Amino acid sequence: MQTLFQMPHTPKVIAPPMVEEVLGADERATLIAHIKTMMAQQNAVLVAHYYTSADLQDLADATGGCVSDSLEMARFGHAHAASTILVAGVKFMGDTAKILNPEKRVLMPDLNANCSLDLACPADEFSAFCDQHPDRVVVVYANTSAAVKARADWVVTSGTAVKIVAHLHALGQKILWAPDKYLGDYVQRTTGADMLLWQGSCVVHEAFKAKELAAMKLAHPDAAVLVHPESPADVIALADVVGSTTQIIRAAQTMPNREFIVATDNGIFHKMHAAAPGKVFIEAPTAGVGATCKSCAHCPWMAMNGLRSLAHVLETGVNEILVDSATQQKAVLSIQRMLDFAAQH
Ligand code: SF4
Repeated sequence: MQTLFQMPHTPKVIAPPMVEEVLGADERATLIAHIKTMMAQQNAVLVAHYYTSADLQDLADATGGCVSDSLEMARFGHAHAASTILVAGVKFMGDTAKILNPEKRVLMPDLNANCSLDLACPADEFSAFCDQHPDRVVVVYANTSAAVKARADWVVTSGTAVKIVAHLHALGQKILWAPDKYLGDYVQRTTGADMLLWQGSCVVHEAFKAKELAAMKLAHPDAAVLVHPESPADVIALADVVGSTTQIIRAAQTMPNREFIVATDNGIFHKMHAAAPGKVFIEAPTAGVGATCKSCAHCPWMAMNGLRSLAHVLETGVNEILVDSATQQKAVLSIQRMLDFAAQH
């Protein structure tokens, strides 16, 4: 039975304006060549999230890096021999890379690239919340700061959350969950676990609209609906597949449908087109009555990553991610617990 809990101090997060890098063909080619040279000189590897620009995703692929979700980005950076990890994504991904690789240099194109889930879960308030519930196992989503991870027993991603919480539930554990209320609600309904939910949300996924999605389904009756579980419950209820970004791409490859309606950041379409050529991907609706999104279907923090800023950090060494040793030593335990669990299951 879920205990309803309204976290009184969950901060309201205002998304920044969307500013995407625009490059001409000559500048793009010059920057890519320059970055490749510097990466080779500095023994650097680029890991990029699916929500970053096509330019960054293509560069990661072309230079032996990876384009993936946050779980695989963490795994890849950890296993790779490079001494510098370039993380194109948002701050918690850079933090995770540093926590797993304290001996490596971790650089990010823009340290202002954050996440509404991370920002909605300040470490001090979260720690006080945990102190009020010592009988609960603390499970936090990867989209959190290093300090919040250090306070947690487990870190999970959208691809591992259901299995890990189901595992803990089977052991008779009660859960304290943060920060995404929608993903937490989905995990609670799927597993039946007793969960207290922090009340954060993703500004991108929260904006998808069920009524308009139902109308879109009627207009595209043969399309499969693929939904990320950071979306509201009424949107998830319309899904044929609910899953992480990697699971969404896999569904597009393996399902027989030609058309897909996709409720996640539209940056993923670049990989979906490459993984399932000839198929048609339609952005799930974010407009309609009550729509509040300013960044409909694209994350304004992910958009802060670009080739110019990546070249700048390689030229100057700025934007290095640093995590203090005490925090790193605690946070690595909760992340490693997830990686070990994922490897075993
Ligand atoms: S898409 Fe949502 S969850 Fe992902 S980084 Fe942006 S705000 Fe955070």
